Amino acid sequence: MLADRVKNLQASGIRKIFELVASMEDPINLSIGQADYDVPDTIKDEAIRAIQEGFNRYTVTQGIPELNEKIRRDLLDRFAYEPEGSLVTCGVSGGLLLSFLCLLNPGDEVLLPDPYFVMYKILTELVGAVPVYYDLYPDFRLRRKELESKISSKTRLILINTPSNPTGGVLSAAELQMVAQVARAHDLLVVSDEIYDRFVYSDTFASPCQFCPERLIHLGGFSKTYGMPGWRMGYATGPSEVLDKMMILQQFSFVCAPSFAQKAVLRALDYDMSDKIEEYRGKRDLVFEGLAEHFDVVRPEGSFYIFPKLPPGTTGVEFTQEAVENNVLIVPGSAFSRRDTHFRISFAAADEKLEKGVKILSRLARKLHV
Ligand code: PMP
Repeated sequence: MLADRVKNLQASGIRKIFELVASMEDPINLSIGQADYDVPDTIKDEAIRAIQEGFNRYTVTQGIPELNEKIRRDLLDRFAYEPEGSLVTCGVSGGLLLSFLCLLNPGDEVLLPDPYFVMYKILTELVGAVPVYYDLYPDFRLRRKELESKISSKTRLILINTPSNPTGGVLSAAELQMVAQVARAHDLLVVSDEIYDRFVYSDTFASPCQFCPERLIHLGGFSKTYGMPGWRMGYATGPSEVLDKMMILQQFSFVCAPSFAQKAVLRALDYDMSDKIEEYRGKRDLVFEGLAEHFDVVRPEGSFYIFPKLPPGTTGVEFTQEAVENNVLIVPGSAFSRRDTHFRISFAAADEKLEKGVKILSRLARKLHV
């Protein structure tokens, strides 16, 4: 009954964890990939007003002009980046699917980070392309030698995710400059997923759009920053040759991003979320300091994830199982990697839950060491 392209498609490792939640009583859920706060009231009011004023029809496919303009202004202010084309998408997920469909032929190789956000692998395979992984272990840094060693005559694009899900790593300007050089030398495209770009705890944040705008599809989103993952809002920018085709494909698939949410996001872009980001820095510190004593762990500089390593002999799946038995939900590293040596914690949770969770995981770690 099924098409070949979906025959081997499996539910994500994270979804399986979500199913477990239903059977648990008041679990300490550290597996969730969304902020623990709600959309700020003034942004909600804007969405409600748009709905009540009848802004409920299709918008133009590329998104309302004033939102495109605002997104461009924001990118110009932050990165001095002036893309030729822009498109309001249905989340970064929408931007990823459209860009992969527009850029990849069957058999093309895509360089993906390992660890990676699972959608990259699935979408690469869905369009008939082949994932080839560049390794970020053990410190989640990007190395030129590693990246170049994975390039073949079939390589078409490099996928970058900064700040990273699941590692919390933020790529430095030097690393991104290196990516730009490698991409130019081998005539590759770069797709950069920067959905966590506001969750940055180091002093600076660099984007590949500062270094290789001519060969870059830059993807940004609103789901995480403004607590609106259900509104399905994101954007894509890049060379008009690509963005024009993505727009046409959006016309024949998603049609447009949600109308009322486009109006609300216009307001969101003026809204200062820095209090929330400071709160999340505190959560990062709480979790990192609590775990560093018992795990080999890299301090996250961005996003809201941390990816500790397990002692040799314990897999992520085994440890997750044990954590679940102790009422803590985490995600095994194998959901994001070819290895199962780590686990992911989302620190997008109440401090009190984080404290309890860290305590339980540390107790389990002590048991493993004896
Ligand atoms: N990229 C990354 C790295 C993510 O973690 C997520 C959400 N988990 C997405 C993209 C998709 O986000 P959305 O479609 O809600 O914009």
